[in-house]
Amino acid sequence: MTQSATSHLLPVFARADLGFERGEGCWLTATNGERYLDFTSGVAVNALGHCHPHLVAALQEQATKLWHMSNLFKSPDGERLAARLCEQSFADFVFFANSGAEAMECAIKVTRKFHAAKGHPERYRIITFDSAFHGRTLATLAATGSPKYLEGFGPPMDGFDQVTLGDLDAVKKATGPHTAGILIEPLQGEGGVRAAPHAFFKALRQLCDDNGLLLVFDEVQTGVGRTGDLFAYKRIGVTPDVMSLAKALGGGFPIGACLATAEAASGMTPGSHGSTFGGNPLAVAAANAVLDVMLKPGFFDHVQKMSLLLKQKLASVVDRYPGVLSEVRGEGLLIGLKAVVPSTDLVAALREQKLLTVGAGENVVRFLPPLIVTEAEIEESVACLEHACAKFADSRLKQAAGQ
Ligand SMILES: *Cc1c(COP(=O)(O)O)cnc(C)c1O
Repeated sequence: MTQSATSHLLPVFARADLGFERGEGCWLTATNGERYLDFTSGVAVNALGHCHPHLVAALQEQATKLWHMSNLFKSPDGERLAARLCEQSFADFVFFANSGAEAMECAIKVTRKFHAAKGHPERYRIITFDSAFHGRTLATLAATGSPKYLEGFGPPMDGFDQVTLGDLDAVKKATGPHTAGILIEPLQGEGGVRAAPHAFFKALRQLCDDNGLLLVFDEVQTGVGRTGDLFAYKRIGVTPDVMSLAKALGGGFPIGACLATAEAASGMTPGSHGSTFGGNPLAVAAANAVLDVMLKPGFFDHVQKMSLLLKQKLASVVDRYPGVLSEVRGEGLLIGLKAVVPSTDLVAALREQKLLTVGAGENVVRFLPPLIVTEAEIEESVACLEHACAKFADSRLKQAAGQ
């Protein structure tokens, strides 16, 4: 399925031949009127589902008051959002951006400037990991390090040393007089829902403390509820110095954020960074509304309960269809299903069952339901998976029988 030849959208996405016109909760209605169960959440963005009434009301109200203000002036609602994010995290300061890549750009700049301001501009290199994903700008692509994304765009930006995820010796070997920090996702999303042991994160923290490095967590995908707590670092029990957020932060309205301790941010002064749209009143209203909902008591209990249920049910399907699926992985509602059949075929087969999922690295299919998903919706998604698996198993039997 490819996009129509008459499209004027730059053909950088392999789009499915399917478009949507409205959504409610975990459900989407296609332009042809068909209903789909959305376990993509716009790739971990619509954490509260589609058209959550509190978010709709917050944006509608803000739309009648003020759409945009420059950062030349105070931002009362931005102050409130930043204070709430700091209260809920390790951070003292927040910079608002418009996307994950921009939040990461700020994190990289904060990390480099920290050392430069202390008289060590030569300490600018950042250690990153294989199969990471940090964004599509030139700097975040260099941090991502994936040859297939870098190809054709000139020399990758200097300053990133990539090592194998989980290999502490490799991290130590890569650490030198030019190292500024270590950048890691608490749980790799695009890379295939790949995790490193908690002990590895603890060791990275220690290494940073021993060598005066900053530990930077890219929580663009894991943050704001996805892994069963507001931030994934809390579940790992290791606190970073700098953290990027984006995807779920605005519940579907574009906003990113870079959070840092006062110490880590000590190099950032008036003029050292900026953004025209960053912290835009509409974006900030959406993000404040997301926090209103997520910070209500019991919200994350629900996410964890649904996580357990989904993982158990998926594991039982994996057991019954070893020729189609091989493993369930992930945390909270960032769940990966490692496929035996090509993951792109599985995503397409699930779409035929009216269930939307997202592919990832390592032949994994991501289940990213809105965090407000119900037990009944999880059961429905698993029924769709069962049907798809049965079809794969059936066609394999037929192939084996030479039909
Ligand atoms: C999606 C993602 C990004 C990039 O976010 P954009 O908003 O697409 O720029 C960066 N890091 C991680 C971990 C992501 O999942």
